[in-house]
Amino acid sequence: MTPRKSSVIIFLGPPGAGKGTQAKMVAKKLDLPHISTGDILRNAINNGSDLGKEAQQFMDKGELVPDNIIFAITEERLQQPDCTHGAIFDGFPRNIAQAKEFMNLDYINKADESFAILIDLANDKVIERISNRRSCPNCNSVYNLINKKPKKKVDGHYICDNCGSELVIREDDKVETIKNRLSVYEKSTAPIINFFKNESILNTVDGAQSVEKINSEIMHILDK
Ligand code: AMP
Repeated sequence: MTPRKSSVIIFLGPPGAGKGTQAKMVAKKLDLPHISTGDILRNAINNGSDLGKEAQQFMDKGELVPDNIIFAITEERLQQPDCTHGAIFDGFPRNIAQAKEFMNLDYINKADESFAILIDLANDKVIERISNRRSCPNCNSVYNLINKKPKKKVDGHYICDNCGSELVIREDDKVETIKNRLSVYEKSTAPIINFFKNESILNTVDGAQSVEKINSEIMHILDK
């Protein structure tokens, strides 16, 4: 039997483009772990850890959490056994400094193949999508009142299909914060698109398409 290849897949794109949805779908299809730095940080906040408390001050304003915190949580996550055959990164790296350090990690250099997938979406669509987003504070499931509506509403509150918790609007999904996240994206994160282009691993898909169409384009890029 030929040994299994290890694959690194990085999702890029503005907030609300569908990175999380696609990263989870691809993770399931390829049996790879989905590493969302945003989810790890939100879990740390829910657990009341010191790291969570430090990160929350930045997250609530839509600012980036300092790189040293991000690398500490990511390197710890990559040591877990489910990362042996690669991983799917959602929301990391998020600026040029992180991208450079990321490409120098042994873990990345040892991978058999690497893909950066940009899910592109215009700003007006980003705002429309995020303002309709509802999230589960318990299991991190994400819904959208336009195209992925939760099935149940009790006393005016939407309920998570997956675990039954009451859904919330994330603090950083409120309209004012979204605008700040978009400007942080343009200033700090968008430059890494060129960085990955220069590494010759960049692929772009149009995020305005249906979830299924985007997924089939991604699977084609990955040749799976
Ligand atoms: P996300 O769920 O990926 O949109 O992330 C939510 C928030 O977590 C971001 O707005 C940042 O405050 C923080 N965050 C997540 N990933 C990173 C990262 N790689 N670098 C810095 N901050 C991050």
